Amino acid sequence: MTQLSTDKVSSEKEMNTDVLSKLTKKSFLQTGEVALVGSGPGDAELLTIRALRFIEQADVAIYDRLVSDEIMALLPDNCERFYVGKEQAKHCVPQGKINELLVQYAKQGRKVLRLKGGDPFIFGRGGEEAEFLLQNGVSCHVCPGITAASGCTTYAGIPLTHRGVAQGCTFITGHMQNDGQLNLPWQSLSSEAQTVVFYMGINTLPSITEQLIKHGRAASTPAALIRKGTQPEQQIFRGNISNLAELVEKHQITPPTLIVIGDVVNQLTDSTLAKPGFLDAETYQAQMQLSAKAG
Ligand code: SAH
Repeated sequence: MTQLSTDKVSSEKEMNTDVLSKLTKKSFLQTGEVALVGSGPGDAELLTIRALRFIEQADVAIYDRLVSDEIMALLPDNCERFYVGKEQAKHCVPQGKINELLVQYAKQGRKVLRLKGGDPFIFGRGGEEAEFLLQNGVSCHVCPGITAASGCTTYAGIPLTHRGVAQGCTFITGHMQNDGQLNLPWQSLSSEAQTVVFYMGINTLPSITEQLIKHGRAASTPAALIRKGTQPEQQIFRGNISNLAELVEKHQITPPTLIVIGDVVNQLTDSTLAKPGFLDAETYQAQMQLSAKAG
């Protein structure tokens, strides 16, 4: 056995020792309470420990479409499950009804887990649910999750900010308002030294790219689409602002997909990403040598 593989075996052994038991337990879900929990973008290993604690204690779980099967499988066997999944503009259970369900179960003395994709307070209506619970006398624990913009870009090998390339990033919704308009601050979204991540923008993509170009963002700005990020089915499509809409058409890309705009998209080479969340040094160096020769 080589030194490397011995190291790998011993580090796997270490991971198997129960590190969780060394952490003081702080997150207790009492009967009559709700835990409003973000489950991250899909990979169960991106759950927070606090989220895991609440998942373990739940006796009823009310969950959305974006919560992955892998995470659902962590619920206790005797936990009742209610799917209230939402698709854009097509609410399986209307928001008002979800709010009432949460209050109803809490008042029955259950330990209620409200499980949402990503972070509950980022395009997740978590704030509305918390307000409704509090107005109705139900206390709730709030637990962040890794939001899609962070989890999916990192697993795709795209740094959201990079020194000298992007000084900041903006998360914004591409979902149409009730009046059928996309009223977004296009001027500020079009400034060069920032990354812009659109949630729920796949259906409005042609207007998004048109407006960005109209307000001065270069049509050649690198852009990417990440579908089902961090999950085994993760797909990444890279292009630029001007051909993004064509990519959607060509590959029939559907939600959940994130749109990432900015030079950071090409910061690390595409082929370096061996699998979601793993960048391969050998491929990287081979690519660097190739481009040095070409240059
Ligand atoms: N609260 C969630 C966002 C819900 S809005 C969060 O913090 O991540 C739903 C949108 O999020 C989707 O339309 C898509 O744009 C994005 N999204 C969520 N999970 C995703 C995933 N695993 N891959 C790609 N996009 C995702």
